[in-house]
Amino acid sequence: MVQLNPQDIERPFADKPMRRMITMVGRALLLKCPNCGSRGLVKNWFKLEDRCPSCGLRVEREGHDYMAGSVMFNLVLAELIFAFTLVAYLLIAWPNVNWDALEIAAPLGMAAAPFVLFPFAKLVWLAADTALRPAHASELNPVAATTKHTS
Ligand SMILES: [Zn+2]
Repeated sequence: MVQLNPQDIERPFADKPMRRMITMVGRALLLKCPNCGSRGLVKNWFKLEDRCPSCGLRVEREGHDYMAGSVMFNLVLAELIFAFTLVAYLLIAWPNVNWDALEIAAPLGMAAAPFVLFPFAKLVWLAADTALRPAHASELNPVAATTKHTS
């Protein structure tokens, strides 16, 4: 059992905000808890646990519509990936662009991208919010916050 200092949970990078943001977004991109870096927050590809099993951070910090921003972030990210991929393909293949394949691949890719990006978008949204508004000790589950998850 590891005892966590509430101040370390609340403000782990208080003097280095950019480092905190990079660390938390990096953890989110690895599908780990942005707050503590442990695994176990992703129940399945389309469902997250209500709380981190290690630090107790609530996934929906502000209620049921908290993740609405992650949906918009997910769609914007899918659009950006589509735009960059399309431009890169056009630059590489020009002037021999396979327009027939592009007519099929582009809509399929755009339809699949939000599903592929789903857990990443939610955790990056949670990471950005947690980096900007660090989790207060009262937000964390006091039982889970006193034990370290080891799986
Ligand atoms: Zn955690």
